[in-house]
Amino acid sequence: MPDPTQAAPQRAMPYLPFTRPTIDVATIAGVADVLRSGWITSGPYVKDFEARLSEYVGGRPVRVFNSGTCTMEIALRIAGVGPGHEVITTPLSWVATSNVILEVGARPVFVDIDPKTRNIDLDRVEAAVTPATRAIIPVDLAGLPVDRDRLHGIAGRHRLRVVEDAAQAFGSRWKGRRIGSFGDFVSFSFHPNKNITTIEGGALVLNDQKEARLAEQYRLQGVVRSGYDGMEVELAGGKFNLTDVAARVGLGQLQRLEEFTDKRRDLAHLYFKHFAAPRVRELGLGLPPEDFGHSNWHMFQVVLPEERLAIRRAQVMERMHAAGVGTGVHYPAIHLFALYRKMGWKDGDFPNAEYAGRNILTLPLFPAMTGSDVARVVDTLAEVLKGEMKS
Ligand SMILES: *Cc1c(COP(=O)(O)O)cnc(C)c1O
Repeated sequence: MPDPTQAAPQRAMPYLPFTRPTIDVATIAGVADVLRSGWITSGPYVKDFEARLSEYVGGRPVRVFNSGTCTMEIALRIAGVGPGHEVITTPLSWVATSNVILEVGARPVFVDIDPKTRNIDLDRVEAAVTPATRAIIPVDLAGLPVDRDRLHGIAGRHRLRVVEDAAQAFGSRWKGRRIGSFGDFVSFSFHPNKNITTIEGGALVLNDQKEARLAEQYRLQGVVRSGYDGMEVELAGGKFNLTDVAARVGLGQLQRLEEFTDKRRDLAHLYFKHFAAPRVRELGLGLPPEDFGHSNWHMFQVVLPEERLAIRRAQVMERMHAAGVGTGVHYPAIHLFALYRKMGWKDGDFPNAEYAGRNILTLPLFPAMTGSDVARVVDTLAEVLKGEMKS
């Protein structure tokens, strides 16, 4: 028998993941229509999705693919980057950014990050340029754009191609202009964690129809069709096409981009408000730049104060998880992975990226979150850290 004098047991708070896609019922119904239509791989929805993305970036050619990763590999191939060439990039990114450089046979050249923006330090890029340098792959970490004026200035001076890894920056702007609407190659990802999703998928913004045609060839076995039965193959393409089912998800997502971005921005404002409380500020966490003009707030990341903490990030994450709050790591420094160490990189090569790689922590941020979720995240983090500060 339950004891009637006891208060009802508190319902446990639902687990708060660090991210979660928002897929609406109209999109789900639209996907069902595609599944019933008899044509489920690349077809009319892919064409429509490409047309709308092209509209979004001011009319530049856009092609869609089954990942963001392959778009960067294909951009490098179109640019003619290969063995004997160097590509400058950041050590603080998803490992895809530098794996694609290896994939085309070139060598990554890492340049440390600016600890304030957590993006590649543009002050150090020109010193890394050699006669073998062909391209730069900047990354807009957490959606905060790399300074596009300086970036394209440097690329222009040294005649380098740019493959913007804007996987996290769909919806971001540079001085009012949409990321993707200018520059050289621009790569987006539609992985479920990104600001809009196609489940898996990506898009590449190109400069002209010639590049777009090459992108189509690299996307599907190098095949070029003509007339009723004509088929030619001139290059060894791969298998990177997006399905119509995925494109239909993307079309439903794209319609809500502005709403999603606004919601993320509001939640980021709230994070700053809660982190400004004196009892939280004294914990000494590194906060992202308060940039409300450019970023799409793909993530809200803090950097734990390693010197002052008696516990490591893994324990912080474990305790947050136990308290019902999910967190993530984006990312460990790339040059310290075994594959890259074997190629000669070592501890101490890029101290700013290494410090961030050890201590950066992604907090929950997604459109379906509420203001009280933000308060709960900051309270939980402050509670976990409070008892673990070295005096
Ligand atoms: C997600 C992501 C990628 C790769 O995108 P996929 O669609 O997963 O292939 C590349 N770079 C960065 C910075 C990313 O966040």
